[in-house]
Amino acid sequence: MRQIIVAGNWKMNASKETVNALIMGILEGMPDVKSEVIVCVPYPYLSQVEALATHSQLHLGAQDLNINTSGAFTGEVSADMIKDFGAEYVVVGHSERRSLYGESDEIVAEKVQVALDSGLTPLFCIGESLGERESNNTQSVVARQMNAVIDRVGIEAFKGIIIAYEPVWAIGTGVTATPQQAQETHAFIRGLLAENDADIAQSTPILYGGSMNPANAEELIACADIDGGLIGGASLKSDDFLHICKAG
Ligand code: PEP
Repeated sequence: MRQIIVAGNWKMNASKETVNALIMGILEGMPDVKSEVIVCVPYPYLSQVEALATHSQLHLGAQDLNINTSGAFTGEVSADMIKDFGAEYVVVGHSERRSLYGESDEIVAEKVQVALDSGLTPLFCIGESLGERESNNTQSVVARQMNAVIDRVGIEAFKGIIIAYEPVWAIGTGVTATPQQAQETHAFIRGLLAENDADIAQSTPILYGGSMNPANAEELIACADIDGGLIGGASLKSDDFLHICKAG
């Protein structure tokens, strides 16, 4: 039985005031939550969330990292800096990083390796665009993205990786994959892992992301191969986020 995991990805949305209200709201509801809950926050708010969430069940993550450990990389943030603020997780390969900042499968694989080397758990994101789905290429795209990381870090490393399947056409659009569509691809991803190691395939969490909300979370998380969610928009309202956290 895999633990249900719900991770919020705030993207570039926060202020000191909203962070305070959001975290306090989430913490109030946490005693009723059985899922593991993570919030992946913009870098400037890591410290604030670390302080607010001390001694709580809430886990902290960042949304990206640089592949270098330190040095002349203006504007960039290293894994050790993220860890310095008590973060345990980092989103890697989000579709917005891939499409807006040109992150290739190889860069994503390198970031997964760097996160693992530093002791951070990567929330490794994969998923197809609408055009790729419509041309029946969902499985080949997801397999390519997965294999780039398996080839780089090795299958054993998946003991420390959380996969997030996020169809790009469902992210921030209000269009959610149906439970059947999501389950089909999750089962395919688990099958890819199983080709390498059956036990690791069974133990690796595979989250769904893409317009998950309080109305659809329960049905999605009930699917056999869906182990929780990576939540964008609905993670910005504590009531909605908590509702999803309780869906597992
Ligand atoms: C995301 O950004 O990872 C995401 C799933 O966003 P949303 O829930 O808003 O679709």
